[in-house]
Amino acid sequence: MTDAPPAFGPAVTSAPPTAGPPVAWHVRGVLLPDDEVRDLWLVGDRVTLEPVPGAVTLADRGFVLPGLVDAHCHLGIRYGATPVASVDEARSLAAVDRDVGVLALRDAGSPFPYPELDDDPDVPRLARAGRHIAPVRRYLRGIGVEVVAEEVPATVAAQAAAGNGWVKLVGDWIDRRTGDLAPGWDPEVMAEAVAIAHVAGVRVAAHLFAEESVAALVRAGVDSVEHGTGLSEDDIAEMAVRGTALVPTMINVETFDGIAAHADDKFPTYAAHMRRLRERFPGIVAAAHEAGVPIYVGSDAGGGIGHGEAVSEMLLLRDRAGMSTVDVLRAGSWGAREWLGFAGLTEGGLADLVVYNEDPRKDLAVLREPRLVVLRGRPRRPVAVA
Ligand SMILES: [Zn+2]
Repeated sequence: MTDAPPAFGPAVTSAPPTAGPPVAWHVRGVLLPDDEVRDLWLVGDRVTLEPVPGAVTLADRGFVLPGLVDAHCHLGIRYGATPVASVDEARSLAAVDRDVGVLALRDAGSPFPYPELDDDPDVPRLARAGRHIAPVRRYLRGIGVEVVAEEVPATVAAQAAAGNGWVKLVGDWIDRRTGDLAPGWDPEVMAEAVAIAHVAGVRVAAHLFAEESVAALVRAGVDSVEHGTGLSEDDIAEMAVRGTALVPTMINVETFDGIAAHADDKFPTYAAHMRRLRERFPGIVAAAHEAGVPIYVGSDAGGGIGHGEAVSEMLLLRDRAGMSTVDVLRAGSWGAREWLGFAGLTEGGLADLVVYNEDPRKDLAVLREPRLVVLRGRPRRPVAVA
């Protein structure tokens, strides 16, 4: 898809054409994770390393990433945990992420499907689950499909078809009868759910706070553990062997004290459990990283967290979990894109990139100020180049 180029000020180093779309865009800079100055040409929605005569230069210096990734967010859930009113509202939430340089999203459960966003030129690359599959009356109201054990297999098949490559299981939640976190269903039911999703050709992301449920689902072969506050050393070792990903959503886990404070009167056991999980969590993420578990950046935007916070999660991974700057960049950029199946800045790759004035390997805070954002071959954020 091509569009007329947006009006450029001093950012453009060679004159834009007077009418119609350019032949190609050109970007030169230090390409990360390689540490070399490279020239890239963008033709339509593809990257080429072969010079394209007549290309219009968008940037001729700086540091280039294939965009950031938020591998756990919800375009269909408003701040406050209610469903968005329309696909347009979901699109506007995606724009918040895009404009800070997040060019690929994994939507980890939506209250209704929005396949029309998959190829929307204004929306970051989108990996989507269908609706959350949750135990009855044990998830955020009005968001998931809530089913008893017998209905889990058919629901997994239906939600595998509703998403575009993922299903989302709510592996545990508070059980008000016992006053503590408890698994969504029996381990056998959850294992069958994972198997059915895999037969359908989709991957499984599981919301997991507690110890018992995460142990069961890791061994059932879930593809990604979301949150994972209850992980034990054994579970971490198992994940490393299996290649199971962890999307820790540290921003979300930081809110556990607030959740606990609301629950203190009615559910003191649950409240104490949530506080314990939060306290030990940075150590768990650090241990998982050290064990070689692939870790990806997810903000859990939608619900209690606003969109556009991928960089905040990256800073937590560095400052709380002790990950190196380059490891955090991999978790929130090129590595996460590869995991989700979105090609990067190689010959024939997808035309998504962000240019920064300074080197984000020296200071991740640089990521808050992209100089240029190009999504699906279209410049989105021209900012004056010195
Ligand atoms: Zn979530």
